[in-house]
Amino acid sequence: MNDGPHGAPSEGFEEEVDESESLFASDLYAPRLTRRGPPGREGWCSLCPQGGWYSMKRSQYLYHMQYDHGISSLTRKVFEPPSMLRIWNDEVETTDGLCEHCSEWIPICFGPVRKRDFKAWFKHAHKCHRDKMERSH
Ligand SMILES: [Zn+2]
Ligand SMILES: [Zn+2]
Repeated sequence: MNDGPHGAPSEGFEEEVDESESLFASDLYAPRLTRRGPPGREGWCSLCPQGGWYSMKRSQYLYHMQYDHGISSLTRKVFEPPSMLRIWNDEVETTDGLCEHCSEWIPICFGPVRKRDFKAWFKHAHKCHRDKMERSH
């Protein structure tokens, strides 16, 4: 977590943080700060250690929150994690995660460099869990 862009005034800092914590506790997706620039509206990511502005007009903010932080734009919460992980005994230790919704194994990390990257999982969760939500009405 970060507390906003660099150079932001630090007076009354403690109070401000407490206030926004309770305000946004149920909505992890909503940017805590926005600004309007030449490319359109931008949202501030407070989850990156360094923070950063992402364009909301071009879905940059949406992709960043969904695939870098795993926060669903639909539920405004963190995606459900895999119910189980399996690690292949190969040289890159390919890892799959079991999806509770479709009961399928989804590749989570692969490639020549062993990397714990959940982007593939978030992409799957976004699609699969949404279908599930739409089907069950
Ligand atoms: Zn971020
Ligand atoms: Zn699934």
